[in-house]
Amino acid sequence: MNRVVSKDVSRFFQSEHEDKGVRFLFNQNISYFSGENGNVAKIHLSSNETIQSDLVLVGVGGVPNIEIADNTKIEIDNGIRVDSACRTNVEDIYAIGDCTNHWNKIYQRYIRLESVQNAIDQAKVVAENISFGDVSYDSVPWFWSDQYDIKLQIAGVSQNFDEVIIRGNALEKSFSCLYLKNRTLIAVDAINRPRDFIHSKNLIYHKTIIDDDKNNIKEIDLKEYLHKS
Ligand SMILES: Cc1cc2nc3c(=O)[nH]c(=O)nc-3n(C[C@H](O)[C@H](O)[C@H](O)COP(=O)(O)OP(=O)(O)OC[C@H]3O[C@@H](n4cnc5c(N)ncnc54)[C@H](O)[C@@H]3O)c2cc1C
Repeated sequence: MNRVVSKDVSRFFQSEHEDKGVRFLFNQNISYFSGENGNVAKIHLSSNETIQSDLVLVGVGGVPNIEIADNTKIEIDNGIRVDSACRTNVEDIYAIGDCTNHWNKIYQRYIRLESVQNAIDQAKVVAENISFGDVSYDSVPWFWSDQYDIKLQIAGVSQNFDEVIIRGNALEKSFSCLYLKNRTLIAVDAINRPRDFIHSKNLIYHKTIIDDDKNNIKEIDLKEYLHKS
């Protein structure tokens, strides 16, 4: 999970899974699978370890399907490049969803997101732009994951953060990580803390600067910052 959350959050989830009996093997390569009766039966690792298996789930990431734009003038750059109105560089052609690398008004850079929220919100923007005129996509991205009794809710994109502030207590399975860049709130991971998640979306949207005392940041109701921003 290190790609999308801080080490604190990924370590927390690793330990929760380990408590439930999950075994993690990091930095290992699979040499080959072997099977019996047409089913996979063993996973052979480069370390020479062999793992018995009756099901293999392969998660190796994804790439956008952009073949539709092959042999056209549509600009491709880590997906179909669109502006904040979801317009491609070719007049009257729009694109939305996982396949797009869009200009994000909040983060002021191109971002390609893979989430249902992004696909739906971009669809609304395009529908409005085709019908009436000129609106921009400016939603704060959000994501979620339910693991056992733990709800992880993520607001914003934490890439490029330079400071993390933790509120709450991981031992009580209720904490949040505030990601700051130059003291501006850019993302929040809320673990069983729905209030932090709800308020953080607004705070990220308003590019709220959080520069008071760290102890205060850990205790304050995040809603208070809305009045300050
Ligand atoms: C295992 C998994 C779990 C996920 N879990 C979550 C989650 O918990 N929360 C969340 O927010 N998101 C989740 N996602 C991501 C979410 O599914 C995607 O972000 C969302 O479906 C994107 O919608 P989309 O319309 O952009 O693309 P898609 O849903 O992928 O739809 C694109 C469609 O276009 C079709 N297509 C592609 N090329 C062409 C072509 N040349 N011509 C015609 N049709 C074409 C495809 O066949 C597909 O039907 C998950 C994804 C996966 C794979």
